[in-house]
Amino acid sequence: MKLTYPHMGEAYIAVKAMFDDLGIESIIPPFSTENTLRLGAKESPESICLPFKIMLGNYVRSIEEGADTIVITGSCGPCRFGYYGPLQKLILKDMGYDVDMIILDPPREGISKFFNNIRKLSRGAGIRAYRIFQEAYRVCEKIDELNEIQYFVRPRTKDKAKLNGIMHNFRAKVLNAKGSKEISQLIDKTKDELLSLDIDMDLKPIKLGIIGEIYTIIDPFSNLNAEDRLGDLGAEVHRSMTVKDWAENNLIKPLRREKPYELEKRLSKPYLPVMIGGHTQQCIGHAVKYARSGYDGLIQIYPLSCMPEIVSRSILPQVEKDYGIPILYLIVDEQTGEAGYQTRLEAFYDYVDNRRRRS
Ligand code: SF4
Repeated sequence: MKLTYPHMGEAYIAVKAMFDDLGIESIIPPFSTENTLRLGAKESPESICLPFKIMLGNYVRSIEEGADTIVITGSCGPCRFGYYGPLQKLILKDMGYDVDMIILDPPREGISKFFNNIRKLSRGAGIRAYRIFQEAYRVCEKIDELNEIQYFVRPRTKDKAKLNGIMHNFRAKVLNAKGSKEISQLIDKTKDELLSLDIDMDLKPIKLGIIGEIYTIIDPFSNLNAEDRLGDLGAEVHRSMTVKDWAENNLIKPLRREKPYELEKRLSKPYLPVMIGGHTQQCIGHAVKYARSGYDGLIQIYPLSCMPEIVSRSILPQVEKDYGIPILYLIVDEQTGEAGYQTRLEAFYDYVDNRRRRS
């Protein structure tokens, strides 16, 4: 069995660590590019959301490199994510690729099915599997720490070329690192390198929260590196959802019988008291949380035709009004042009920066 999985930001690092420790050969798809998207978009239903198309492109690239089994997470409440796996399997079959697909639905969708899939993936590991999953989760935490350091340093350093070089080296080296121990050491070393840059600690950059649809928040290819672009302009950003948060709320909390996303759901209640699919309540809840924490602005990113985030988009202007926080709305798909995107980010940055100076 040669496993593969789609890209979703830095998720591949933790997943690779886990499969390395389990002794399972896995193939990381080549990093997403325009070609990956073109490949996926060509075979996908035209109006399906962007993550579906990028993922399909990832699978094809991995299958061409020898992968025969795809692992993805499943379900996301009543939104299209629930049928990503089965539909992608059918499309791949039509394309002549007969691969297995293991769809890891969160435990709330059926505890026995969840454990059956876990057993399938961790065969032979026995009780060791539990510790391996813990280590993989710890890698997710470390990735968040690394990103947060990067968000802090980028607007405060003039050594942007060095910073990009450090991150570039990290991405190249992590592909060759084996297991959670080596990967964790590499993350720690990279954190130290970032902190050794010349950082202006007195600078107070504007703070922007990134909210919206989980894939397009987490995956830099799909959001055209919005975080780096904003950091280069001089803003400190914060990603509202991460792979670690997803694992904590969808895997760990349900197993501990704790309620997921409790704070976000409570904060979103005056605007949206029920779950309507995707992460709509979380998006609204994060917007309120950022506004209350003194953030200067918010950026909602979501794929064209994303049903849950279209609902958030219609509610967020009310949050904007209630809390007096400006929000930029960015919709991404395969037609998104880089120049227009950059112009919108620059205009928003200038607006928020001037607004803060005036106040
Ligand atoms: S949340 Fe939006 S983009 Fe993600 S699968 Fe659902 S509809 Fe598609």
